[in-house]
Amino acid sequence: YGALYVVATPIGNLDDLSPRAARVLGEVSLVAAEDTRHSARLLRHLGLACHLLSLHEHNEANRVARIAEHLRAGQDVALVSDAGTPLISDPGFILVRELRRAGHRIVPIPGPCALVAGLSAAGLPTDRFVFNGFLPAKRSARQARLTALVERDETLVFYESPHRIRETLSDIAAVFGSRRVVLGRELTKAFETFLDGDAESLLAVMDSDPDQARGEFVVMLAGAPAASEESRSEIDASVLLSALLAE
Ligand code: SAM
Repeated sequence: YGALYVVATPIGNLDDLSPRAARVLGEVSLVAAEDTRHSARLLRHLGLACHLLSLHEHNEANRVARIAEHLRAGQDVALVSDAGTPLISDPGFILVRELRRAGHRIVPIPGPCALVAGLSAAGLPTDRFVFNGFLPAKRSARQARLTALVERDETLVFYESPHRIRETLSDIAAVFGSRRVVLGRELTKAFETFLDGDAESLLAVMDSDPDQARGEFVVMLAGAPAASEESRSEIDASVLLSALLAE
């Protein structure tokens, strides 16, 4: 049987494609791609002429049988998305789930991923974080999702597009107040920027420089602060006091 290779591709800078990814893409007999025209450009840049098959959110379930057929015929298949690691806010989950259920070999070829790139340079705690993908498009659902996260003490990570970055920041300001936000914009690209501050101050930066609202974003938020030393000793004192009163 062949194997399915889940291949990470660049999130901007083409030099980030690993030599192993390039080798695998050159060796498989079929590349399943989210957008075949987009991936054809990347493959041409690598000097490869691969056989491409579209696999996106609307046809993924129907593609499983076709790809399984290739694997059964002993041919290797690669899965790529438009940018970064497939399955991370990208198609591929149904395919991987079904092929794994059927006992096929699935091999990750790791590489670029916007959330990991963002976290690696943001200066927020990374020992524990919650990746939330994209927030809902509707304001009420978005605020509800954010409100449900207010008490989480892990770093919070979201993906956001330029169309909604301002709305999202104003919702974050409303729900999280002055909580620290780090925005990673256009990572690995020419206009890569990190902005750091509370949501209101980041909105002010975008008002004075609208270019700061362009491009693709990883939005990272500090987790809920742990109880401070002072409030913890207040708690200890009140526990002690009620124990003494009970005596
Ligand atoms: N699979 C991709 C990955 O591994 O990161 C994510 C795909 S998702 C459809 C696209 C979103 O990822 C963008 O809206 C943005 O939030 C984030 N993203 C992708 N490339 C980025 C970049 N170069 N800089 C900042 N964020 C990026």
